[in-house]
Amino acid sequence: MGPSPYPSYVHRIVIVGASLAGVRAAETLRSIGFTGTITMVGDEPHMPYDRPPLSKNFLAGEWEADRVALRKPEALEELNLTWKLGSAATSLNLEENSLTLASGETLTYHGLIIATGGVVRRLPHQPTIAGVHVLRTLDDAENLRNEIVEGARVVVIGAGFIGLEAAATASKRGAHVTVLEGLEAPLIRALGAEMGAAIGAVHTRNGVDVRCGVQVQSINGTDRVISITLGNGEEVPADVVIVGIGVTPATQWCEGSGLTIRDGIVCDENLCAGPAHVFVAGDVLRWPNSLFTDVETDMRVEHWTNAAEQGAIAAKNLFASMYETELEPYAAVPFFWSDQFDARIQCLGRPSANAQVDIVDGKIDDGKFCAIYTVNNRLTAVLGVSKPKLVMPSRALLSKHTTREEALAHFERVLAAQAAAAAQQPK
Ligand code: FAD
Ligand code: NAP
Repeated sequence: MGPSPYPSYVHRIVIVGASLAGVRAAETLRSIGFTGTITMVGDEPHMPYDRPPLSKNFLAGEWEADRVALRKPEALEELNLTWKLGSAATSLNLEENSLTLASGETLTYHGLIIATGGVVRRLPHQPTIAGVHVLRTLDDAENLRNEIVEGARVVVIGAGFIGLEAAATASKRGAHVTVLEGLEAPLIRALGAEMGAAIGAVHTRNGVDVRCGVQVQSINGTDRVISITLGNGEEVPADVVIVGIGVTPATQWCEGSGLTIRDGIVCDENLCAGPAHVFVAGDVLRWPNSLFTDVETDMRVEHWTNAAEQGAIAAKNLFASMYETELEPYAAVPFFWSDQFDARIQCLGRPSANAQVDIVDGKIDDGKFCAIYTVNNRLTAVLGVSKPKLVMPSRALLSKHTTREEALAHFERVLAAQAAAAAQQPK
């Protein structure tokens, strides 16, 4: 990093949320020449770590905590940050450019980046007894993995991403796994009924008991969980319960501050929350993604890649706003992956339950296929199960208006080219 041309000695930036988007913001600020103070506020006691392994390699017992660290200690050291860990921000005062921490300390800022992510939802009468878990943090994952042992009866409530990834990992560890989902298929809101059922079938084929259209009435046990009662009165025995019923954006601490909050902090296309020096990134952000505003006015994305990219853009734009240079809108094709048994699920775009879905390659029953989503004859997503060569190259199609016919023709051409290339390979 060369000498900074900016008079940043007067400037203090506070980042709330010491995780993926927050760390990417801090790294970006340093890489573009901000030499002022950066204070990183995080309510967890740990140095930043990565969440995806928590339901996969870490839960499987294959990785230890040092492998989930987001950055090596030396790399974080180099960023020269002031850490306030284990101290939640509890309120925000936009007039005074200050925030208060749970400890009572007040921090003032010239620039603020909010990257507080999501808070796990719990069932209305979820008991706090041994054996009942949620999975969001490293501590959650540590507690859970100690209980997932061979032969344990694990009941997962909610067939979303957490529920299905945890179900696959627990099953691979020799647990007997039952998944309970209220709607008629897994992942309906995320992928729609047909594709959700296709992912559910991966689990069924691997011995997981996936039960959809069931309601959980109660989780039973005094000191420790023993069973779950369903809406129809049936009792499902359980040694371990994992509640994976989604997250809500972590905005409670800044409600009433004047920021616009509507299922996330509402920002403009530059990720600015309104006040010129307040930017937002990651799971907590709602913004108009200009690549998709014809189908969704604004969106909130709860996946890794977006949080990382938005952290970098929020930092660049805060810097630009402080030094009065040009801001860069964040317009992107959202992406996520999910590993469940041997299925590598990858998705570009915005799949939705109301879209028309066409399988463009493979068969659902083989557990290897690629599907496209269209809404109002506009391609909105490409989903692949163990089809990486088809999904990733379709980003360009999703970055512009592509009709269903154009998308189908594209995949026909790509598949023909792949088949021709394969035919030329020596046998
Ligand atoms: P977070 O990672 O949630 O970080 C926000 C931080 O802010 C947290 O440490 C939180 O404690 C802190 N915080 C909250 N409120 C306050 C406050 N008031 N004061 C101070 N600090 C606060 N995505 C994928 O694309 N693929 C995957 O395979 C995948 N696997 C996942 C597995 C698990 C188990 C989980 C939980 C998530 C997974 N995700 C995956 C999603 C991905 O990890 C998230 O989208 C990403 O972590 C969001 O990053 P973020 O920085 O916005 O928020
Ligand atoms: P999620 O993907 O939103 O899924 C929640 C699931 O729980 C949905 O299937 C939902 O179904 C169901 N549900 C809600 N209320 C329920 C209830 N009362 N009883 C039974 N089921 C209920 O959230 P998640 O799986 O909990 O994951 C949490 C966060 O981590 C999300 O942000 C997710 O994106 C992220 N994550 C991402 C990945 C990945 O990208 N690979 C992996 C793990 C986690 P309804 O439709 O009925 O509400």
